[in-house]
Amino acid sequence: MSGADAENRAPTHIVSCPTCRRSVPWKPESRYRPFCSKRCQLIDLGAWADGSHAIPGDPQWGDDGDGDPEAS
Ligand SMILES: [Zn+2]
Repeated sequence: MSGADAENRAPTHIVSCPTCRRSVPWKPESRYRPFCSKRCQLIDLGAWADGSHAIPGDPQWGDDGDGDPEAS
């Protein structure tokens, strides 16, 4: 009789890749976790640098009042 088997099998924690939403097992082999791959990690870092993750609510540019010539 053995009832200790289950204890050796801890359920793998799964997270979603922030970039592509793939399931990523949270374990040492997943070296880019929470990303599924280095590519997704770079994409996310790039998005930050790019400003895509900027806080919403920024005023739209275009209202800086550069003197319009007569529009007629
Ligand atoms: Zn991914």
